[in-house]
Amino acid sequence: MLPAGWHRRFEHRAAEERPLAPLTTFRIGGPAQIFLEPENVDELAEAIANLRRGGIPWRVLGGGSNLLVADKGVRGAVVSLSRLAAVRRSDRLLEVDAGARLIEVVRIAASAGLGGFEGLAGIPGRVGGAVFGNAGSRYGAIGDLVVALDLMEPDGKLRRVVPHAGFFRYRGSDVGDRIVVRALLAGSEADPRLLRAKVRDLLRERKASQPGWVGNAGCIFKNPPGHAAGRLIDAAGLKGLRAGGIFVSERHANFFENDGTGTASDVLRLVDAVRDRVRRAHGVELEMEVRRWE
Ligand SMILES: Cc1cc2nc3c(=O)[nH]c(=O)nc-3n(C[C@H](O)[C@H](O)[C@H](O)COP(=O)(O)OP(=O)(O)OC[C@H]3O[C@@H](n4cnc5c(N)ncnc54)[C@H](O)[C@@H]3O)c2cc1C
Repeated sequence: MLPAGWHRRFEHRAAEERPLAPLTTFRIGGPAQIFLEPENVDELAEAIANLRRGGIPWRVLGGGSNLLVADKGVRGAVVSLSRLAAVRRSDRLLEVDAGARLIEVVRIAASAGLGGFEGLAGIPGRVGGAVFGNAGSRYGAIGDLVVALDLMEPDGKLRRVVPHAGFFRYRGSDVGDRIVVRALLAGSEADPRLLRAKVRDLLRERKASQPGWVGNAGCIFKNPPGHAAGRLIDAAGLKGLRAGGIFVSERHANFFENDGTGTASDVLRLVDAVRDRVRRAHGVELEMEVRRWE
């Protein structure tokens, strides 16, 4: 149940039992007990303060491209930042709200002649999720570009933080239980034509080597030190292995694809099977990269 008065306060920006599957790229998962989509930072702070007062746990949703939501859904509140999506440019800096789509930011940077963002081309999701998980590729990660972050503390207070050395690591950060509200990203001066061409090349490269943006959640496993998870899975002969409606992608073995009927429990059964077979074949332990909400 939404706390009393919330329907009036947040109008259509609050809902109960909102299905989450359509908000994830995997298209999997049950509803959020409470769903909130604040329109601006003040409304976000108010929502967080209300949730805190009510003792209601919350999670933040970005683009849902690195998530496996449980089939039964999640208790408490899911706060989506999709309406906080402004991008402002000042000299060599982009000030980007957490709900901005990463691909938009990459395109804006390329057109503005800001280099350093191209390596993020083709990564779905939003800037807050990318910062939280330090999204990146072999051409660089978003943490390399971050000059400062506006983080909302669990008490609803906003603080500007300059990340210390070690704040960002491989597919992780020290964001912890704070909410990324805004990121200040710095690029280097470069020729917009070359940047746009590089972005196009990288998007083409991905299209040829990975499934599209729907029906999967990107790489299921982190790359273990010194190995590529996809190669280990492929070498163990697991492409095409299936559990219910989920199967190991033929295009890229570190992607699991949903044939449209898959469930979270199918994904977890396949995760167990793949981990087991890779352990036996290579003696390497795979760790999940995709975040689980349950
Ligand atoms: C086809 C495909 C290709 C991909 N390729 C790559 C790749 O090359 N490299 C890569 O790193 N990833 C890749 N991914 C995974 C995914 O796109 C990235 O991890 C992305 O950065 C996740 O962002 P999101 O907004 O979708 O986060 P979500 O999936 O919505 O959330 C992920 C986590 O971040 C937290 N979070 C989200 N927003 C915030 C916020 N504002 N503040 C605090 N926490 C927050 C959530 O609570 C959750 O724990 C790929 C995914 C797909 C589907």
